[in-house]
Amino acid sequence: MSFMGIDLSSSSKRGSYFALLDTEGSLIYLDSFKAVDELMDVLRAHSPDLIAIDAPLSLPLGLDCLEEECPCAPMLEQKGRMSEQELASMHIGCFFTTKRSIIKGLIYRGLDLRRDLEAKGYRVIEVYPYATKVLLFGGKMPPKNTARGLAFLKDKLSGVVTGLAPYQSGLNHHGCDAVLSAYTAWLHQGDRTDSLGAREEGHIVVPQLLAPVLS
Ligand SMILES: [Zn+2]
Repeated sequence: MSFMGIDLSSSSKRGSYFALLDTEGSLIYLDSFKAVDELMDVLRAHSPDLIAIDAPLSLPLGLDCLEEECPCAPMLEQKGRMSEQELASMHIGCFFTTKRSIIKGLIYRGLDLRRDLEAKGYRVIEVYPYATKVLLFGGKMPPKNTARGLAFLKDKLSGVVTGLAPYQSGLNHHGCDAVLSAYTAWLHQGDRTDSLGAREEGHIVVPQLLAPVLS
């Protein structure tokens, strides 16, 4: 079996990193793509059993788009999706999916990619590497966009995923997020995750709460 993680960028003008883990949860591929066609070539070659995408893959119940001029409206009073409310209650910050989102480009790209992949028969889950990091490595991480933050992350990552050594050059923050996404997919296959939110709206999959860190 193999498990793919994708750190999706908001546009095909920028690279999106993807990582592939094998049955043992060991890294066997790390690279990036721009257009989704490039990703499809990789998928045909590797046929992952589960694909975890770091991007919102669903809209709040009641919304069919994020356009403020459209009359569609959320069914629930809360801000964003149920999964995002659960993250907030865990004190894990995220962007709420609303018509005023500042990441609409990424959300639309995520929705499109999910639809494309599922139409081709792939199993897809939504993940959130920041939550994965907080749950696995604790909330006290050095700032993300610093050399210290990256060194911390790579050190922690090497404690849970093997096979990182040949891919050091791709292990920037986006590459690490792709590996964390793939690792969350691997945990999900092993029944060691929790799915936040509700099925009818869409889950965010995170490492099982209070589970011991596996190595
Ligand atoms: Zn609408």
